[in-house]
Amino acid sequence: MTSASASPVLSAHSETAPSVGLIGWRGMVGSVLMQRMVDEGDLAHINPVFFSTSAAGKPAPEYEGASPETPTLQDAYDVDTLSKLPIIVTMQGGEYTKEVYPKLRAAGWQGIWIDAASALRMSDESIIVLDPINRDSIDAGLDAGVKEYVGGNCTVSCMLMGLGGLFKQDLVEWGTAMTYQAASGGGARHMRELLNQFAHLGSAVETELADPASAILEIDRRVLHSQRGELDASQFGVPLAGSLIPWIDADLGNGMSKEERKGSDETNKILGRGESLAPGVQRRGDSIPFESLCVRVGALRSHSQALTLKLRRDLPVDEIEQIISEGSPWAKVVPNEKEATMQQLTPVAATGELTIPVGRIRKLEMGPEYISAFTIGDQLLWGAAEPLRRMLLIAIGKL
Ligand code: NAP
Repeated sequence: MTSASASPVLSAHSETAPSVGLIGWRGMVGSVLMQRMVDEGDLAHINPVFFSTSAAGKPAPEYEGASPETPTLQDAYDVDTLSKLPIIVTMQGGEYTKEVYPKLRAAGWQGIWIDAASALRMSDESIIVLDPINRDSIDAGLDAGVKEYVGGNCTVSCMLMGLGGLFKQDLVEWGTAMTYQAASGGGARHMRELLNQFAHLGSAVETELADPASAILEIDRRVLHSQRGELDASQFGVPLAGSLIPWIDADLGNGMSKEERKGSDETNKILGRGESLAPGVQRRGDSIPFESLCVRVGALRSHSQALTLKLRRDLPVDEIEQIISEGSPWAKVVPNEKEATMQQLTPVAATGELTIPVGRIRKLEMGPEYISAFTIGDQLLWGAAEPLRRMLLIAIGKL
């Protein structure tokens, strides 16, 4: 674990807890972040000020251990109110960041902005936070006066939390990730849509399913009929229940999705490689080629990915496993055996856990430096809320 070596924005020994603006607390990421803060007792260290884009003036939420500075929700678009705060944590989304953040800076705000959205991730002024991997960059950024700290793409953060040991020891020459990403990656409304689709499909064949003698092809036909014409797919655009969508986020026009671009750009930025490093951050070398093909699947929560890595040298599998296990206190190697894989290496097993299981590790026929691996992370924990929660603690000198 890391020690409290940063130069916090606010003294760890300050008599009064700092005021921290919280925006997006009722969304998918925000709900998980608030729960983690309650579980860890973090709210005792801050005076939260709750904002909303849709319900300003309504009562602020109540969380165990929290003493909100104001009893009502503040307007998340009110730059005057926001600019009085030393720290703002937002899980509201990229559109919000793009609209409000430039206005705040234009108004002369000098506070720390901690953000879950991708909008500022590749800015030369920001650090993508994943402190078990890049605590040194975060500390250097705080010392150099960097004000933007952004959570990474969920798939990237989970991958690095699992396989970070190999990257930290500069053992990866290149890699590919084939992802299997859950509905919750899209947010609360996407999760509801998937569940409603499952419910609709279940009810469409309820009678036939209850009769073991009914014809499976008739069930199949009815399900397909519902998928093609009856399901509400307003969030994902096409049905996801009983299907998959091999495209996530915007079309960059070069055969690549924005999610796939993030895989390469953000992995390298977190590792201190490539371009767009913030002031103070030590550059650790050229980018590692890292390609992805990102697929949305009907899992509810937790993103999975199958990786092919070319290592810089031929290492025995047990040594590779040891490096992965020691990469972070949260990485856990799952033996490459059927029973262990089925029990421990699924979204159902990983959801709600901070542990990142890594399995299916074996050498590939392409050569002794080539390995496969499969890893899963709860993308709302290490993939979103946890790095932000920890960044807040680092900023106030509590981690
Ligand atoms: P979300 O669940 O859609 O929540 C965002 C906002 O939507 C909420 O703060 C809320 O704002 C509003 N909202 C409207 N209807 C809602 C409803 N029925 N339930 C809850 N909130 C509702 O978005 P999110 O998944 O948390 O993502 C927030 C940001 O984090 C995005 O930039 C996303 O890209 C990023 N991120 C997400 C994940 C992930 O796995 N989901 C992972 C990493 C990063 P008001 O209260 O102001 O109305």
